[in-house]
Amino acid sequence: MSAFENRQCKLIARPSGMVKRSDFEFVTAPAGEPGPGEVLVRVLYVSLDPAMRGWMNAGRSYIAPVGIGQVMRAGGIGRVAASNDPSLAVGDIVVGMTGVQDYAVSKAKDMLKVDPRLAPLPRFLGALGMPGLTAYFGLLDIGQPKEGETVVISGAAGAVGAVAGQIAKIKNCRVVGIAGGPDKCRYVTTELGFDAAIDYKHEDVRVALMRHCPKGIDVYFDNVGGETLDIALSLLAARARVIICGAISQYNHPEAIQGPRNYLSLLINHARMEGFVVFHYAARYPEGMQALAGWMLGGKLKAREHVVEGLETFPDTLQMLFRGENFGKLVIKVADE
Ligand code: NAP
Repeated sequence: MSAFENRQCKLIARPSGMVKRSDFEFVTAPAGEPGPGEVLVRVLYVSLDPAMRGWMNAGRSYIAPVGIGQVMRAGGIGRVAASNDPSLAVGDIVVGMTGVQDYAVSKAKDMLKVDPRLAPLPRFLGALGMPGLTAYFGLLDIGQPKEGETVVISGAAGAVGAVAGQIAKIKNCRVVGIAGGPDKCRYVTTELGFDAAIDYKHEDVRVALMRHCPKGIDVYFDNVGGETLDIALSLLAARARVIICGAISQYNHPEAIQGPRNYLSLLINHARMEGFVVFHYAARYPEGMQALAGWMLGGKLKAREHVVEGLETFPDTLQMLFRGENFGKLVIKVADE
C-alpha cells in the first residue's frame, strides 16, 4: 500500500449548464503504485481549461467523456515521486494528463519531462504548454497569416488568444484583439503589443471591427463563437481564413449551440473556415515547443498565469473561465513546489 494519501475530485453527475459543486465529490484514497513502465507523479498544479466542460457531457466528441465516478480529467504538472521506468527519475518535472488529484499513476511515455529552469512551472500549462501549442498550430497551420494582413483574435487576453496574437505580431501582421473589460484590453495592447483591442462588454463589436479593420479581416482566430463569430464572418476580406479554435460562449448552453448565420460570407469572399483540435498536431509538438520557448527567451512572447490555491476549489475555480474572472492561464496550485 502506498505511503501517500491522495485527494481526488470525482465527477458524480453530468452538469446541466454551468458546473455546480454538487456535480463533484472529493474523496481521499491511498495513492496507487506505479507498475512496469509507469511513474507516480506528485501533482503540483492542475490546468483549468474551457474544454473540461465538454468532457463532462455524454456523447461523441474528439475524446471520450469523463465517466461518472471517475477522477476529473485535467492536464497537470508535477514531480516524479516514484519511477518504474528508466526514462524518468524521481525528482523530474513532468507534464501530462494527471487529473484533479494529488497523485497520478501514469505510463512514463505519456509524461513529458520539462526543464523547470526555463520558466515558472504554471507556464508549462499555458504559453509553453497545450494552450501555446494550440495558438501556434491553429494560427500558423490553419490561419497561414502573411505579413501586413489583418488578424482578429477573440478571447484575446486568455491563454490561447494572448499567444496567438503575439505570434501574429511576430509574423508582422496587424492584430486586433477582442476581450472583456478595459483591463484586459489595456493588457493586450500595452503589454502584448496588439495594435488595437475591442472591449466586447462595453463596445459595439461590429462598429469597432469596421473601424480597426478597414480592409476587412484576413484571419479570424475564434475562441468564443456565438454572436462575435457571426459579426467577424460578415467582415471578411477576400480569401480570408477563419480558425475555429473554440466557442466558449456556447459551452454551457443546455440546448443546442448557436451556429453561424453569416456563413455565406465564405462563398462571397472565397474564404475558408476550418476547425482543429491541438491533439491532432501531437507529432509536431517538439517543433511548436521549440518555437514558443525560443520566442519567450528572446522576449517576444509574454505570458501571464492566474493561480488559485487548493485542489478543493476546483468546481468554483472552473466557473471563473466562463465568467471571464481569470486573467491569464488559469491553474490550481495543488501543492508547494
Ligand atoms: P482563456 O481564454 O484563458 O479563458 C476563458 C476566457 O474566455 C475568459 O477569461 C473570458 O475572457 C472568455 N469568455 C468566457 N465566457 C465568454 C463569453 N460568453 N463570450 C466571450 N468570451 C467569453 O481560455 P483558453 O484556455 O485560452 O481557451 C480559449 C478557447 O480556446 C476556448 O474556446 C477553448 O475551448 C479553446 N481551446 C481550443 C483548443 C483546441 O484544440 N481547439 C485547445 C485549447 C483551447 P473575457 O474576460 O475576455 O470575456
